[in-house]
This record gives sequence, C-alpha cells and structure tokens, in this order.
Amino acid sequence: MLKPANYKVLLIEDDKIDQMAFTRLIHEESLAYNCVMTDAVSQAKEILSEQDFDVIIADYLLKDGTGFDILEIVRDTPVIFATGAGNEKLAVKAIKAGAYDYLIKNPSRSYLSILPLIIENAINHAKMEKEVRIYHENLEDIVKERTEQLAAEKELLSITFSSMTDGIIVVDADKNVVLLNNVAEMLTGTNLEKSKGKNIDDILVLVDERSKEPIENLVDKVFETGEIQTKIETDIVVLGNKYENPVSIAAAPIRRNKKQISEVVILIHDRSQEREIDRMKTDFISSVSHELRTPLTSIKAYTETILRDPDMPESQKRDFLITIDKESDRLGELVNSLLEISQLESSMHEITKQYIDITDIIELIIHSLKCTAESKNIIIEKNIDTYVPEFWGNESKIRSLISNLVNNALKFTPDGGKIRIHLKYNNKIKIYVSDTGMGIPCDEITHIFDRFYRVRKSGSQIPGTGLGLAIVKEVAQIHGGTVNVKSKLGRGTTFQVILPLAEKHDYELAGKYSSIHG
Ligand code: ATP
Ligand code: MG
Repeated sequence: MLKPANYKVLLIEDDKIDQMAFTRLIHEESLAYNCVMTDAVSQAKEILSEQDFDVIIADYLLKDGTGFDILEIVRDTPVIFATGAGNEKLAVKAIKAGAYDYLIKNPSRSYLSILPLIIENAINHAKMEKEVRIYHENLEDIVKERTEQLAAEKELLSITFSSMTDGIIVVDADKNVVLLNNVAEMLTGTNLEKSKGKNIDDILVLVDERSKEPIENLVDKVFETGEIQTKIETDIVVLGNKYENPVSIAAAPIRRNKKQISEVVILIHDRSQEREIDRMKTDFISSVSHELRTPLTSIKAYTETILRDPDMPESQKRDFLITIDKESDRLGELVNSLLEISQLESSMHEITKQYIDITDIIELIIHSLKCTAESKNIIIEKNIDTYVPEFWGNESKIRSLISNLVNNALKFTPDGGKIRIHLKYNNKIKIYVSDTGMGIPCDEITHIFDRFYRVRKSGSQIPGTGLGLAIVKEVAQIHGGTVNVKSKLGRGTTFQVILPLAEKHDYELAGKYSSIHG
C-alpha cells in the first residue's frame, strides 16, 4: 500500500501565499508529500506529460487558463478543485466535469486542515476505481473466453452427434422430437426441420419384420420404468420413406439434476451390414456345397456304373476311371483353393515373409507351363525391367498369385494366342499379365474377384472353381498391394498387380535377421 510520505502531489496554484500555506501544512503535519508546484496550465501540462501523480490540486483561476483545462487532460488521477470563497456553483460544475472533490478557499485558510484527509480519500477512491476497472476488463475477457469455449464445445457436440454411425433421436417429456442426427434422418426418412416438435410415434415407426405388427414403444416404457430399454434380438425394421432397415433399438432416460426424466435418448443401430455379412456367409456355404457336390455326384455315378457292370469292357472302364480321376483332381483343387483362401483370411498378419526374387518366380512359372502353352500354340513373352529389387513377401503366396493369373491367361486364350508377362519397377513393383484371349464382358468385370464367380459364357466349357482371382486379390492385399483389370471382349485382358515395397524398418529387421542367421 502507498504510504502517505510517498504520495506524489501536483499543486497548480498561482497564489504565492496559498503555495506557501500548502508547504507549511506539509511541514507542520509532517506529511512529507513528494510535492511539485506550478502556477500555470501550460507548465502543468508539460509536467503531466512527463510524470504521473497520485493526486492533483488545481486552483480555478490560473495565469493562463482555469482548473477546467487541467480536468480536460487528466484521466485517471484524482483532481481536487480549489475555488475562491462563496463560489460553490463553480465547485459543483467542477465535480460534474470530473473533479474528485472541491475546496472553498477561505481567507483564513482553515480549509487546509481538512486537505490531508481529502487527499487520502481521493487516492483511495482512485485506487478502488482502478481495481474495479481492471476487474471489469478481466470480467469481459473471462466472459468472452467462456463464451468461445461454450461455442466450441457446442460445435464439437454437434459434429460428434452428426458423425455418429448410429441413429440418435432425443425426445422431450411430451415425447416430442428435440434432436435427430443424420443417420436417424436417413433411417426414418425425415429431417430435423420436419420432425422437430412432432411426436416420436409419428417419426419412428418400428414394426416386426415378418408380421409387420408394430413394436412396443420403448419411449413409453422408459418413462414408466425410468430405466434403459433395449430391443436387440427381435427382427425389427424401421419404416422409412422408401426403405425398411433392420435395426436394434435402445432408449435411455436423461435426468437433469438427478430429478424427473426430462428427455429420452433413442439409439438406433442399423443392422443392414450385419445382415449382408450373414447373407454372404450363407451364400458362401451354399456355393461351396454346390461346387463340392458336382464332382462328387459324378464320381459316385461312374463308380456305381463300374460296380454294377462287372462285364464292362476294359476300354470303357478305363474312360470312366479317367473321368473319376479328373473329378477327384477337381475336388482336390477345390479343397486346396478353399484352404488357401481361408488361410489367407485368417493369417492376414501372420504370414512369414522373406526377400524374394519375383523374376525367378516368373521364370519358374513360365517353365512349368511351357508344355501347356505349346500344346495350345500360345507364345508366352516376358519383359522384365533390368532392375527390380527383391520383394519382402511370402514366396508361395506370390507364386500362387502370378501362377493364377498366367493360368487364367492360358485357359481363356484360344489356340495361337499370345501372353505377355511384364515385370516393372518404379518405386513399386508392378506385374502385368496380358493375353489376346476372349476377354471379359464389361458387366461381369466387377464380379470376377468374388469367390466362385465364373463368367457364364467361358465358365461352362473351361474347367475351374472360380476361386483363383479371389486368391489373387487376397494375396495382393496382404502384401499391401492392389489388382486391376482391363479387358476387351474378344480382344484380350490385362491384369495389373501393384506391390509396394515394405517399410524401411521391415528391411532393417530383415537385415538383422539375415545377419544373425545368414
Ligand atoms: P480357378 O482359377 O479357381 O481354377 P477360374 O479360373 O474359373 O477357376 P478365376 O481365376 O477366379 O476362376 O477367374 C474367374 C473368372 O474370370 C473366370 O472363370 C473367367 O470367366 C474370368 N477370367 C479370369 N481371367 C480371365 C482372362 N485372362 N481372360 C478372360 N476371362 C478371364
Ligand atoms: Mg483361375
């Protein structure tokens, strides 16, 4: 706190006697103010531009102006206005103009006795005003900051709300819709604008999928029991504008200040995707059963014929046995492909990898298919970039990928055709397998990587299980790569496999491994 001795006082007074009286007062009362005196407005202005004061005492009539001129330039320092005796009107005017207090200078100068008290009060008052001003300024900042914080929180909440993958509807105590997120809009076929304020029973229509009977209202039950309600097992669908979506539902009470239920939040989980996966599983099982049954039926039929006819001519028996052998091979291939696919899916992250030379793999595949190619009079051309780095991958899987593509090219290219295998390196390893074969119809191209999918026209005559390209896709994916296809019906097909090189640290790990074991 400021001690009286340290108060800085500016006295603007042109009456020498008054100046002396003030000096005497300081002396007599041992006030020891740090006092600066001047007798003119112009000089006072100069002093004030260089120094700060705790209090200013300004006489009304000065040499070159009045005390009002001082009031005009001073902002925060309290000014005590001094006027001649009997001039109260002027004093009031001075207070209105911003002076802290006034003194009526009487000839006996008795006013001086109360001056120290006025000075003390003026300084305390100014100090308090300053503190209030600072508090106000801070308060404004705090309010501004809090408002911004609230706006940000509100925005985050609204983003979270709208980006949730489940549908959310909030209803008030009268069951009227208060909030509805994007997914709920999509599922119910409405929007917030249309549904706000409407009864939930008109917005969310839930029925049993089979019987189409309405489902018991969960919101009513929440209000009745005060507890969370769920419906997961039943086959419920939401009746939207155009679609019926299978869903599971949960509703929970919202209580403000732990009192009565003020709102209920309804969570709608769309089960369409789960349904689709279930459907795909069922389809897969029925496809596998069908594919297994066809060769089995044929094996069984031929075996029974042979057994039933002991006198069957040897040549016919041999033909039948050859067919049985072929069908067993087909069964074997099918089972192997199925095993390969399921192994690929289950061991996504566990396959063993090593440095492999894809050029070598291509050479070996071409060599193994040489006879088949020659028998069909098909030329297999290879074009391998001069520099292709070793690839960090699983050798047998990469071999299976390339071999499936080249086998397909051979199978689906008529006699006399051409196959080209191009191995390129340009940051990534690119394998192209092109043929001049029958091509793939446009509308079927998106399906050829599906399991068991075979193009209807070509599928009927050429043997195969329809699993080869599914394996190609899986192998590419577990190596972080992709497969693309371009085809022209009757002109040929090109498959492109892109394999990214592994991350540097994989190579470093591999380096360590080979230095320990190499
Ligand atoms: P699998 O490879 O299991 O023995 P597949 O060769 O019939 O049987 P995929 O390799 O998966 O099965 O190929 C799926 C289908 O795509 C084939 O049946 C064929 O109709 C079409 N296809 C694939 N490669 C070619 C190609 N190079 N030219 C024309 N059609 C092709
Ligand atoms: Mg194939």
